[in-house]
Amino acid sequence: MSVSTGHPAPSAVSTFDVHDPATGAVVGTYPVHDRHAVDAAVATAHRAAAWWRDLGFAGRARHLDAWRGEIASGRAELAEVIHREMGKPISDAKLEIAMALEHLRWAARNAEKVLGRRSVPSSLLTFNHAATVEYRPLGVVGVIGPWNYPVFTPLGSISFALAAGNAVVFKPSEYTPGVGLWLAQAFARTAPAEPVLQVITGLGDTGNALCRSEVGKIGFTGSTATGKLVMAACAENLTPVLMECGGKDALIVDADADLAAAADAAVWGGLSNAGQTCLAVERVYVHADVYDEFLTKLVAAAAEIEAGGEGSRIGPITMPKQLSIIRRHIEDAVARGARAVLGGPDTIDRQFVQPTILVDVPEDAAAVTEETFGPTLTVTRVRDMDEAVELVNRGAYGLGGTVFARRHGREIADRIRAGGTSINAFVAHATIPALPLGGVGASGFGRVHGPDGLREFTYAKATTRQRFPSPLPLTSFRRDHRADAIADLLVAILHGRKHQ
Ligand code: NAD
Repeated sequence: MSVSTGHPAPSAVSTFDVHDPATGAVVGTYPVHDRHAVDAAVATAHRAAAWWRDLGFAGRARHLDAWRGEIASGRAELAEVIHREMGKPISDAKLEIAMALEHLRWAARNAEKVLGRRSVPSSLLTFNHAATVEYRPLGVVGVIGPWNYPVFTPLGSISFALAAGNAVVFKPSEYTPGVGLWLAQAFARTAPAEPVLQVITGLGDTGNALCRSEVGKIGFTGSTATGKLVMAACAENLTPVLMECGGKDALIVDADADLAAAADAAVWGGLSNAGQTCLAVERVYVHADVYDEFLTKLVAAAAEIEAGGEGSRIGPITMPKQLSIIRRHIEDAVARGARAVLGGPDTIDRQFVQPTILVDVPEDAAAVTEETFGPTLTVTRVRDMDEAVELVNRGAYGLGGTVFARRHGREIADRIRAGGTSINAFVAHATIPALPLGGVGASGFGRVHGPDGLREFTYAKATTRQRFPSPLPLTSFRRDHRADAIADLLVAILHGRKHQ
């Protein structure tokens, strides 16, 4: 398969295969783009960026709307590519596409309002100046994406970077290059004049080459370990980075929560996409008063879900190497006194992991502290919400989280150290286009989505225009004793009062 978007493709000397994770069959072969090919793609993108920038917000919005239509009408085909390359059920792939389209629409419609030029007030000492701020594109943005949500996640960066006026060079995960290529080809059909969105394919070295190329920023989504390598490579050129990294999110259940709804959210949040979700529920903390009742509901609901087999709701583990991590977390927890009340180490069969619920897991076990990225949940009894918050906040990650509570949901949510928290629903905050998405701590920094996600791919440009000479020339050697005295008096009036 060649990387063709209708524009000259970067040349490559070697290739890699993509395998269907459920069967191991080869489903595609793609070029490995080396440093030379990546630099060439970025150089081409700089030319396209000027054309794209000059279209202005309205011109770009027209193309982005057309791209949205193209993706929407091809969604069945795109969902098939997602399913084939990373294994999630077709209906989940379609849901992922639907969510991505919402964000794409929001970015196109709101870019001008968020980024366009606006006046800001000056101050008493600078009242003779008119001041404006605007947010300008960086030029070319490099986007490095993961495979677990191969449309929703990279489009979180790509849509907003494009709407802000940048050209994009996208390196999709080596597990889902066909998805990335499909998106770029759809874009090229609606904006054929210039290669505004290009795809380069390959493994980590190709991503590294993109980090070291002449891009204005790297939007990275992937594991925390790779994020550190990306930052190190970007440091060479002082290239700024957006870091959307891993997570170890928790769901909290208070004593007055709707337990059926909480169990439903925990099952979906923990098991959908076979648990391969950055925002997946991996830990559950439940008020002691409702622990037994909640656990019974949770296990009953999770027992209905099966990985693999005809019509199954969750697919295989996409990366073969992840299986040993999932197995280690479960086995280590059990060896340290935990019980698998559903699933367990024996239910891992080839690429499929059956839903696993662990109780009595020590808080310092890997199953609680490290990202598992499999269909597993630890469930822990807490004496009150203070203890729940303390345990949730103890970890290194801080991506998202969920709180189920009737009376104190907002208070509990406010105490969670994370980029976003959803109350009485799982990850609603990631699906609302006007809200920022991102993490703190080991989950990264910077934001996609919403106004912050647009500004992420710009630089702020401040401009002033002196409207008339100041009667009080402070920044000039013409400043005399009288000006000094007036300025001194103004400072005393404005700032000199003692504030409590
Ligand atoms: P990964 O870190 O293995 O790979 C991510 C991307 O980085 C891939 O395209 C890969 O080829 C590239 N890469 C690898 N080595 C590189 C290097 N040295 N320099 C530059 N690029 C390099 O992650 P993954 O397995 O694809 O994705 C799963 C991870 O992503 C999980 O940790 C998950 O939590 C995280 N994730 C985070 C979010 C979020 O929004 N915070 C969303 C989705 C996934």
